[in-house]
Amino acid sequence: MKPIIGITSCLKKNGRLNSVLNYDYISAVNNAGGIAIILPIITDDHLLNDYIKIVDGLVLSGGEDISTEYYGESPTKEMGTVCLDRDKYEMGMFKKALETGIPILGICRGMQLINVALGGTLYQDISSQIKNSVEHRSKEEEVEKPYHEIKVMEDSNLFKMLGAKELSVNSFHHQSLKNIGKDLRVTSYSKDGVIEGIESTEPGFLIGVQWHPEKLITDFPVFKGIFGAFIDACQNKKES
Ligand code: MN
Repeated sequence: MKPIIGITSCLKKNGRLNSVLNYDYISAVNNAGGIAIILPIITDDHLLNDYIKIVDGLVLSGGEDISTEYYGESPTKEMGTVCLDRDKYEMGMFKKALETGIPILGICRGMQLINVALGGTLYQDISSQIKNSVEHRSKEEEVEKPYHEIKVMEDSNLFKMLGAKELSVNSFHHQSLKNIGKDLRVTSYSKDGVIEGIESTEPGFLIGVQWHPEKLITDFPVFKGIFGAFIDACQNKKES
C-alpha cells in the first residue's frame, strides 16, 4: 500500500467549528504517490498518539502565527492571529512524529513550527524587524506565482530535491526564522537574508520550506521534487 500522509489543518470558528485545509496540499501529496488524510485539531494526548500510529508521514501546513510564548517573547503589535489549540496540537504531533522517526515536511507556518519546537525563535514581523527586507507577503491572487528569488545551499538535501542553486518561489508570510533550533541547518535564503528553508542535520527526513511548493507544482514541476523525495522517504520508512 502507498504511504498514508497526515496533513495538519486549522479550526475555523465562524459560529460553527470547521476543520479547514487548502486542497493544494492534498493534490500535491496524492500526485506524488501518497494517500493524503486531514488531521483535525484535537487536544486529547491519547488520541494524538493514535493518529500518529496511523500515518507514515506528517505534513505541517501553513496558517496562523505561532504564539510567542513558545519562544519566550511578548507579542508586538505586528503579530497576527494565533490559535492556541492548533499550536498545542501541532507541537504534540511534531514531537511524536520526531520520536517515531516518520518523515516530516513543514510548509510556511509548518517550517516555523519545526524551528520553534526545537528551541529556535522567530521574527514576529519581517518588515518591522528586518532592515532592508523585501515584501514577503504577496497579494492572495499572486500566491501561485513566483514572487522573489532564493538561493539554495549546494550541500543540502533540498538542493538534491530541486536540482537548482537559484530559483523563484512564491511568498505568503510576514514572519520568518531568527535563531535556528537544535540539530537544524539553513538550506535556503532570499536575497534580503530571510531564511527560506531548513533541514535536520540528523538522519531521517525533516525539512521545512518557507514558501508554498504545493501551489507551484502545476506550473513549475521543479517543485515536485520536494513531494517526491518526501513520499519516497515515507515509503522507505514504512517498509523498514
Ligand atoms: Mn519569502
